[in-house]
Amino acid sequence: MPELPEVAALAHHLREYAVGRRVTRVDVASLTVLKTVDPPPSALQGAMVTGAGRYGKFLALHCVGSGAGVGSGAGVGSGAGEELHLVTHLARAGWLRWSDSLSTVPPKPGKGPIALRVHLGGPGFDLTEAGTQKRLAVYVVADPAQVPGIARLGPDALVLSRDELAELLHGRTDRLKTALTDQALIAGVGNAYSDEVLHAARLSPYATAGRLPDDALDRLHAALQRVLTAAVNRSVGQDAARLKGEKRAGLAVHARTGLPCPVCGDTVREVSFADRSMQYCPACQTGGKPLADRRMSRLLR
Ligand SMILES: [Zn+2]
Repeated sequence: MPELPEVAALAHHLREYAVGRRVTRVDVASLTVLKTVDPPPSALQGAMVTGAGRYGKFLALHCVGSGAGVGSGAGVGSGAGEELHLVTHLARAGWLRWSDSLSTVPPKPGKGPIALRVHLGGPGFDLTEAGTQKRLAVYVVADPAQVPGIARLGPDALVLSRDELAELLHGRTDRLKTALTDQALIAGVGNAYSDEVLHAARLSPYATAGRLPDDALDRLHAALQRVLTAAVNRSVGQDAARLKGEKRAGLAVHARTGLPCPVCGDTVREVSFADRSMQYCPACQTGGKPLADRRMSRLLR
């Protein structure tokens, strides 16, 4: 699932290549991804791309209407100067794929991974989703805050100060792993980067979020900034929007069960918790002790 670093890299690409271009056409190949009906995607036609941004794990293309389509009676185009935002949540298997010369043939509805194709007068991009679990979401809105998932977001993981982090975690009785991935608390971090941040901070995923000593909070804050910034740079460097999907490098523990920890050489372990699995290094994070599988121990009790 694309998280803060990958989405930041895709937004970076759109700022470099899409800004200053007009949307010439939008092809919707999968109606189920569209979570808004008014304005319709065709309202983007003729609009000028003015920017791109990231809200937690949401990606937004910012546009301003040209007024060209007003009065056409076909719901095409938007008012002059009217803001329009194409927002997407890539969910588990979604991606944005850029092309310098996008096919002018509309993708076939219901076939293949392309859900939406945005033409920018020659170049453009596809929003794609691999697999059968259709969870990609697309919104066309006048204000990104109209997307419920964006309205609910907590402060962004990359702009949090150490004291703000301490305040957010204060009094929380849930596990650190749960708190870090709660988008309403801290925006942008998911299953992969929470594993990485906890490893870099040498903290157990099962630690109680509201009971971290000062030095642990220092390490957690430093790890959030360090791990996420390095991952953003890597993802920008590999030109993420030209890849078929997320391609992560430099992970220490996430998705590395059974492999040696790059810091200490201990074997990376996996534990199931709630509806997911996570990876950690016992020597670095839990005083050498393997964590109990919460699903298992509940079943056995
Ligand atoms: Zn280790």
